[in-house]
Order: sequence, then C-alpha cells, then structure tokens
Amino acid sequence: MSGFPEFDYRNNELFVESVSLKQIASEFGTPCYVYSRAALTQAYQAFDSAFAKRDHLICYAVKANSNIAILNLFARLGSGFDIVSGGELQRVIKAGGDPGKIVFSGVGKNAEEMRLALNANILCFNVESEAELIVLNQIAKEMSKIASVSLRVNPDVDAKTHPYISTGLKENKFGIPAKEAERIYQSAHLFPHIRFTGLDCHIGSQLTEIEPFLQASSKMLKLLETMQSQGLQIEHLDLGGGLGIRYTNETPPSIKDYVSALCASTQHIKQRLLIEPGRSLVGNSGILLTRIEYLKHTPARNFAIVDAAMNDLMRPALYDAYHDILPVHNNGGEIKSYQVVGPVCETGDFLGHDRKLSLNSGDLLAVMSAGAYGMSMSSNYNTRPRAAEIMVDRDTVHVIRQRETIDELIATEQILPQ
Ligand SMILES: *Cc1c(COP(=O)(O)O)cnc(C)c1O
Repeated sequence: MSGFPEFDYRNNELFVESVSLKQIASEFGTPCYVYSRAALTQAYQAFDSAFAKRDHLICYAVKANSNIAILNLFARLGSGFDIVSGGELQRVIKAGGDPGKIVFSGVGKNAEEMRLALNANILCFNVESEAELIVLNQIAKEMSKIASVSLRVNPDVDAKTHPYISTGLKENKFGIPAKEAERIYQSAHLFPHIRFTGLDCHIGSQLTEIEPFLQASSKMLKLLETMQSQGLQIEHLDLGGGLGIRYTNETPPSIKDYVSALCASTQHIKQRLLIEPGRSLVGNSGILLTRIEYLKHTPARNFAIVDAAMNDLMRPALYDAYHDILPVHNNGGEIKSYQVVGPVCETGDFLGHDRKLSLNSGDLLAVMSAGAYGMSMSSNYNTRPRAAEIMVDRDTVHVIRQRETIDELIATEQILPQ
C-alpha cells in the first residue's frame, strides 16, 4: 500500500491508475511529472459536493499547477480560477476557462495586467492596497469600464504553518487591515470606476487545522455585517485557499469536513461563498518520477544520486518540505538509509534525507505528493531543461507538456555583436 489511492502497487510495481510507472519512464524518460486524472477529478468533486446546494464558486489557485491540461480539466468540471498574474490569465483563457469565474489576487498587479483582466471581464479583482485601488480605478476609467473589487483583508490570524507560506498575520505583506478596509469601503464614492462586490481573505497554505480558517471567517463576517449596515451590497465572501494535504503524517481535515465547517460558520448569510484551493486540489494527484543515476557510499552516508533535482522540485530546498519517496519496484532487498539527492551543485539540492530504501542504480523512484508547487516552481538552474508532464487517464497516457530542449532553453539569449 502506498497510501495514495490512484498511485498504488500491483505485484510490487507502482502504478498510476492502470499504467505502470516503469512503462511511463521507458517511453517518456525521466525526470517527469505524472498526474492522475481520476485523482484530480475526485478532489474537485469532493469540494463541489461538500458545498451541496449552497451558492458557491471554487476558484482553483492556478499557481499550484498551471499546466493548461489541468486547468482545462477543472474548467470542464465547472471550476473558476484564482490567478496572480497576466500570464496565468492567458493560460486560463487558452485552457477554455470562463473569465467570468476568475478572481485576480496578488499584491503587485501592474497596469498591463489590469488592462488584460478588465478586457477579459473577469469576475473580481482581489485588491491588496489602497494604492492598487487608485491605479485600478484610473485604468478602468481610461477603458470606460467598471472594475469589480473585493478588498483582501488581512484578518491577523495565525495559520500555524511554515513562516514562508503564512500570509494572514499583520506582519505579512498581504492584505489590508480590517479597520483600513472598512475606511476604504466607506470611501467608495471616491472610486467611481470601482464596484465593491466582495470581501476576501487568504491566510496561508498547508494549514492542517480548521480553527484558523474559522477565526478568519468570523472576522470576515463581522466586517461583512459592518459593510451591509452601511448600505454596501456585498455579493460574495471569498475565504481563500490554504487547506493542507498529507505529505507524511500530517492529519489535515478532509475536504468535506473543511467545506462543511466553512458552510456552517456562514450559514446565516446569503452571500455566495468563494474559495481558492490550490494544493488540496492537485497536491496528491501528481508524483515526480526519477531514476537513480548512481549510488555513492561514503564513510558517513549513503547517497542515491537521482536525475531529478531542486530545479524540478524546489519544496525540499525551499521549505525543508518532506515528500514520501517510494520505489517503483519493491525489490524486497536489504534496506539502508539514503540521502536522495540531485545532480545540482548545491548542498540544498536534496529530495529526501535518511530514507529507508532498498536500492540499485538504475532503479526508479516516485517522489509522492508532487502535484502542487512542483512543476509550477521549477526552474532551469544548472541549464537543466524542465521535466515532461504526463497525464494518466485510466489506461491511457497523455503527454501534457513535452520535455524542454536545450535549444528552447537558450533560444532567446544573444551574444554581443563585438
Ligand atoms: C497561493 C494562494 C492560494 C492557494 O493556496 P493553497 O494553499 O495552494 O490552497 C489561494 N489564494 C491566494 C490569494 C493565494 O496566493
């Protein structure tokens, strides 16, 4: 048992749905990301069905994994999207997403991105400062448009997650303090090209408890009440993303319990509920498949040097994040403790420390839970072409992104004429 439903062993060989990872590696090479369509669909439907008959919109946070095949799958299931750049907007449109279901988050939207989004008639801008609001109002005016806006409020709650992915504390760069948001909503008349349609927050990522979400929700509800008592017509409440997943022994709430708790805490309001899940939709729907190049035994340690590296999956180097690493073939041999590392010239280039595995050089390994913030954070460091991406749909294998070539990688560079 792997512990990941769509990625499991059959006769000691690891499969994705009905396809063996060994077959994928021999056909498409390594490293590559492999996703399960069934796992993606199940995660989306878990959110959607937990909302039952409540007026809601799930806005998938594109930055978690922005491959257009994945965006298209979610769009077909009815999903909206949370974007953080003009580039992500263009991806969603190319993937067939409905612009009328897009919310645009981020602290540093530039004028060009605002124009793109206004042109596309997106659902809402999640505005993170008064300065941004002034610019958005001006651009909307130039385009003779009205921009729909939620202020992203910083509810000042402790998400109890890794400091780099905690966003809802008053020290963070994100959002607007509730008091200030109140003042800005009251000054709506100063922004004739803005229509305030919502309230928004997002307190962080990889949360493993419901409590901080409920604290944030309760602060947002207070603000909503104030706004309504002052005559503002708020149409939706956006409670952000952030639900954690199980990488190893975390015990995050289930999607159903999380959504049910949000619905219960807001049952007395009639506004539409928005959420912006990223990781919890894609994280456990993908793995990174890699091959062992060399085993290296030093007096201090055993190293498994693999062909995937920190440029392919940055989370271990960036957050000291833990990903399960499973053998694609369970060989039943002698177990040793390995440092699983990549070829990049950095000591931070590791995928896992002290993993108990029985390995031979040439073996394949699956780095689990790599569907979120894996490919989307990958880089070309060490001039390593980015990995291929594969989607498995029952017994069918689709390449959803070709492996990058070195030619593509350097195509836009220029040497000086003299
Ligand atoms: C990153 C982000 C999300 C998604 O967070 P997850 O932890 O992946 O669910 C949602 N909303 C905003 C504004 C974000 O920046």
